[in-house]
Parts: sequence; structure tokens; C-alpha cells
Amino acid sequence: MTLKTFSSLMKKLRLLAFLLLLAPAMGVLAQPADDLDARIEAILAGMTLEQKVGEMTQLTLQAAAQTEGTATTTFAVDMEKLREAVVDRHIGSILNVYNVAHTPEQWTTLINQVQDLAAQRGTGVPVLYGIDAVHGNNYMQGATLFPHNLALAATWNAGLVREANRITADETRAAGIPWNFSPVLDLGRQPLWSRFFETFGEDVYLSTELGRVAIEGQQNDGTAAGRLAATGKHFLGYSTPTSGKDRTPALIPDRVLHEYFVPPFRAAIDAGLLTVMINSGEINGVPVHANRDLLTGLLRDELGFEGLAVTDWEDVDKLHNFHRVAASHKEAVRMAVHAGIDMSMVPYDYSFTDDLIALVKEGAISEARIDTSVRRILRVKLQLGLFEDARPKPDVLAQAGSAASQAVSRQAAEESVVLLKNDGVLPLAKNQRVLVTGPGANLRMALHGSWTYVWQGTDERLYPQTPTFLDAVRTEIGAGNVRYEPGADFEQALDLDAVANAAREVDAVLLMLAEYPSVEQPGDIEDLGLPAEQQALVEAVRATGKPMVVVLVQNRPRILGMAADHAGAILMTNYPGPHGGTALADVLFGDVNPSGHLPFTYPRYAGSLTPYDHKNSETTGPHGYQPLYAFGHGLSYTSFAYSNLRMASATVGRDEVLSVSVTVTNTGDRPGMDVVQLYSRDHYATVTPAARRLRRFEKVTLAPGASETVTFTLPVSELGFVRPDLTWTVEPGAFDLMVADQTLTFEVR
Ligand code: BGC
Repeated sequence: MTLKTFSSLMKKLRLLAFLLLLAPAMGVLAQPADDLDARIEAILAGMTLEQKVGEMTQLTLQAAAQTEGTATTTFAVDMEKLREAVVDRHIGSILNVYNVAHTPEQWTTLINQVQDLAAQRGTGVPVLYGIDAVHGNNYMQGATLFPHNLALAATWNAGLVREANRITADETRAAGIPWNFSPVLDLGRQPLWSRFFETFGEDVYLSTELGRVAIEGQQNDGTAAGRLAATGKHFLGYSTPTSGKDRTPALIPDRVLHEYFVPPFRAAIDAGLLTVMINSGEINGVPVHANRDLLTGLLRDELGFEGLAVTDWEDVDKLHNFHRVAASHKEAVRMAVHAGIDMSMVPYDYSFTDDLIALVKEGAISEARIDTSVRRILRVKLQLGLFEDARPKPDVLAQAGSAASQAVSRQAAEESVVLLKNDGVLPLAKNQRVLVTGPGANLRMALHGSWTYVWQGTDERLYPQTPTFLDAVRTEIGAGNVRYEPGADFEQALDLDAVANAAREVDAVLLMLAEYPSVEQPGDIEDLGLPAEQQALVEAVRATGKPMVVVLVQNRPRILGMAADHAGAILMTNYPGPHGGTALADVLFGDVNPSGHLPFTYPRYAGSLTPYDHKNSETTGPHGYQPLYAFGHGLSYTSFAYSNLRMASATVGRDEVLSVSVTVTNTGDRPGMDVVQLYSRDHYATVTPAARRLRRFEKVTLAPGASETVTFTLPVSELGFVRPDLTWTVEPGAFDLMVADQTLTFEVR
């Protein structure tokens, strides 16, 4: 047999084996193969280098648009460009266009077009379509939108967060979109950062728990429409740029990285997280996309992540053009692949694809390294069942935005409202006359925030059905009882005399202080202070002497200054979504008893951004820790008393599990919800201990006079910390456990 015939025979055998093994994946055989690895190997064996590198490429749909334009009405797919991407260039993934919200019908057509093309390509591997469905399927008109993560975190209601994510999964997968770039697992410890509202707040435990249930809701709970692949982002340490500006340098000591920033990702990976997205910024001088210690050493070797790691937007190119650690684009590709990425969100061209193919041909990157990434990508596609069914489900999609789903969103909006201050002015009587004022009071976007149908969220034409705060107050007490003066827009104070005159004619002023929605670099701000025009508005209202209720609907805590002193009451919610206006009105007029609690520390001064889990040295002296409102704070229209914090033994071993109980009683005259928050404090440790750390929480609902005993189980090992050598330890000695005003002390042996 000649060499040529032999190799041709081998090729045929390989093809036969490939088809036999691939058949189940393609639904050809009745019984799907159990062995995921065998299916992956079979597909991989039939792929050329170009096809493999194509799998590692993700383009934006905009790269296949007919026009460069992004206006909502003009977007149309260029089928030739789409064919080139999917069939000729074999791309593994497409992501959404950031300035278009398709209707369910458009999504159905689009995804079918994409998967029709995928079926025509040599490998037949379906395309993994990815989207930022970060508060509901927010790029689809008619979907159920929810409060953003920070507002969800203020509910401290893990079941509700999970349910919101389950609904998001159903309404996204039904559109044929199986991959969601959510949840953000970054900690919100830098309020200047424009993406603060996308986090679950500043605390490690709260963020870890809510991140985990968000992933479980998306990946495991999807009902009729099936499951999503969630994305833990942005791995890691993205949220604390020193300057507060997006994608600027962060300095994070390894010890702190491990104690604070790793746990949400560790828990997410342990819960089966399928994909991660990499932090666009740099830590300690090294862009994370080029950091092999983090992307391979930490993510793969230490945390055991086996899923798909995708870059963030243009981040391979940015190693060259933005961070300037790579002298050429090709070098940037080499660096990022060497560091450990599996897929590049390129997103406009084939520069990554072409350079990566060249690097393999030159021997700078081995084909085995490519295979490793392609295996991970194929695994996710198989786990999602895309080979069996990657198509939209119009019948399920028709139920998107159902009354039942909207009710969950409304409940989340209600529970997200935090009553920060109340000198007795709330709840307001419904027969009072009020003035509504403030720059966001009649804007839908002020409630929705960014990532609402378009990237920045500011095209209100796309969600005309959302009642503004003003609309909701009018509905609540009748339009005849409501005056409205905008008072200020986001750039200037308008007619303050008109505000003052109107204020004199009413019983109370509802002053909504808001932020114009913006995110990522467009959302960078210079100052945490309340903008000058809103300060002027506060002053104009204060001067009338009328009761003033401040309603904060913001991305993050803005420094309130005198507004905090002069307001009779302050309510806060952070982008509560379509039902936010109604939820606020319901709380103001007593239909809903507020139950939200701060998921971050509300600072008093712009120069003092100390988190709640600070060190002892930060508490003492005249300039010690003095936030305006502490992490976990939240008032109610009823009152709660805590008693009998107890555990079985005053001495415990390091391997034991504590059982801690406390009784909470509703001592007021209304039904209400409270969040039982268990904190711990280590008296002495070789790394300076935190003032307190949240360890467990539970939201309870109590009728007037009713009591409930809540029992938490807590392994002693969780009370530890990361040592300078990066090992986790619990040192023997005294610890406190605290719930509200209750404290008990015990000894770890
Ligand atoms: C953001 C990511 C997002 C991606 C895709 C990036 O600019 O940082 O959070 O998932 O765009 O839209």
C-alpha cells in the first residue's frame, strides 16, 4: 500500500469513527451517548486548525450588520457577512449588538438564521450565542426586567434572586440564546466605579450567596425553555480600580485577593459555573488577560474551573493598544492564549483568528493548547444541549413578560427599597397633597438604569409602559393631589422659584435624587458628591420648611451632605426596574412596609470610603469609622426586638459546626419583614481582625406580636482568614457572634 492510499484509508476510518461518535450528538441515534468526553474527542478529531481557532472566536452581531449604524430601527443582518463568519470562518460564538433590542420574533428569525448556517458548515457545530441578560433578558422587547443586582442584594432575599434568574433563563433560552454574561461576582467596594450597581454590594458572604443562587437559577432551574450557561464575571478584582474609573489600575495584595475577591468565584465554580469572563483591567501592573498566574494558576489549578473562559470586549487587542504590554497584536494573542483564555470577544474582525492560526503554524503555540480550549468550548455546547436543540421556542417565548413574572419583579422592587431614615413623616397619608420634584422623577430610565434594551439604557422609547415615579404617585393618591416641578435636570438647576412656590402649597415634598444612567467608561464620574444642581434643589425645598422626603434612585451612594440632615425621611433603591416607581409609591404611602437593607456602607464623606469590615485602627479617634448609614441598615414601619442569642457550648473545636439561635419578635403593630444578620468578630489574630464579618443571614416575615427563632449552622472553619502565605486558618482564642444588639462570646480551642 502506498503512503497516499494508506493515509486516504486512515482518513476514511477517522471520518467513519467521527460520524459514529458524533451521531448521538447530532440527534441521529435515538440514544444520546453518555460519554461527554468521547463526544468531544470525536468532534475535535474531525476539525481542522482553522475550524478550531474559529471556535475560539467570538464576534458581535454588529460585525454582520448591513450598516454601521446602531439606531434601533435600522439594524438588519447582512446575510453574506453572517455566512462568512459562521460558515467560512467557523466562529464559535456571536454576542449581541449593544444598541439594539430585538422583538421576540426578530430574535427567533435571527437565531434560526445563525443556526441554519451553523448546520451548513463542515463541523456542524452549533453557534453559542451570548448576551448580557443582566436584569432579565434586557435586549429583548417585552421580556420581564428586574431590579439590577445591587437592588436585588438590598432585598437580602436569596429565594427571590434565584427566582428572578430562573425567569431570566426561561425568557432568554426561549429566544434561542443559551449563554448569559451574568452574574457579576465583583465586590462593590469602590462606589466611584460606574458599575457599582451591577454588583451584589460590598460584602464577601452576601455576594457569594447571591452570586451562587443567581447561577443556580440560570443554570439549573430553567423550566420549559431549558437552561442557560451563566458567566461569573469579571475574573477577578475588576471592581476596585484605585481611581474609581472603569478599566484603570487596581492594587490588590494577594492576601486580600484571596480573602475577599476569590470566594464568590470559588463558590460559583463549586456550584457548577459553566463560563467566566475575564477582568478588563490590570492588577498590580499586570493586565489580567495576560496574567497566567491568575488565569491558569488560580482559576484552573487552584479553583478547579473546567469551563470556558472568554475575554471581555476587545481585550486581546487592548493588551497591545490600551495596556501596552504587547508590542504587536500578534504578541497580544500569544500572551492571552498563553495566560489561559479560551475564547476571544474580538469582536469586529478576524485579527485574533488569523494571528492565532499563524502562531500555531509558526510553532509559537501548540495545537494541543488550542485543543484544550476547543474541548472546553465544545463541552459547554454539549452540556447546554445545543447539538440536540439550539432553536428558539416561539410558544414559550410568547409567555415572556407574563403577569406571574412581572409579579416577581414587582416584589423584588418592593423588597429592594431601603428606608434609611424616618423621623415619623412616613408613611404619608393618602389624602395629603404632595409636590414631586427632582431630575429623575418623571424619567423611566432613572428607574431602569443601564443595560435596558440598549447598552446605556437611555432610549426610553423602548419601554413606554414603565410608570415613572411621578406616574406612580399620581396613581397612588390621585393626580389632583400631586404637583410636579422637575426642579433640576442632570446638568442644571431649572426654575427653583417654581419649586419653592409649589412646595408652599402642599403638605410634603417628595424629592427624588437620581443619576443619569450610564455604565462602563461612559459612566465614569469625578466626584461622589451630590451634583451641584441637585444640592441647589435640596436647598430650595429646605428653605420652604415643608416636610421633605428624599428618594434616592442611584447607581451608588452619592454623598448627601445637608440633604441627609434636612430630610424627614430617606428612601433608597438602586435601579429597581420597571416596577420601581410603583414600589416606591407603595412604600411612601404605607401599602408596603419597607424591608430592604443596605448591601453596602453609605458613606458620610467622599474622602472616607471605609467598608463595614474595616480594621480596629479605623474605628478609633475623632476621624474613625462614621458612615452615614452602616452596611445592613434598614428601617421598617414596625419594630423588631432580638433576644436570647445562644449556642450550645462556650468552647468549640476548630473542626466543629456551630449551631447558633436567636429569637426575633415583631414588637410593632404592622406585619413586617426583617433580615436576621449574624456577624462574627475575632478578638485577636495574627492578621489584624475585621471589626465584624457577615456570616449568615435570613429574611423573616412576622405578624405583629409574633416571634420566630432562627437557627444558623456555621462551621468554625468559616471564621478564619487568609494568612500572608495565602493559606486559610482559624486561630484559637475568643470570638464574638453578634445579631442586632445581641452578642455572645465563645472560645475556639
Ligand atoms: C462588559 C461586559 C459585557 C461585555 C459584552 C463589556 O464591555 O465589560 O460586562 O459582558 O461588554 O457586552
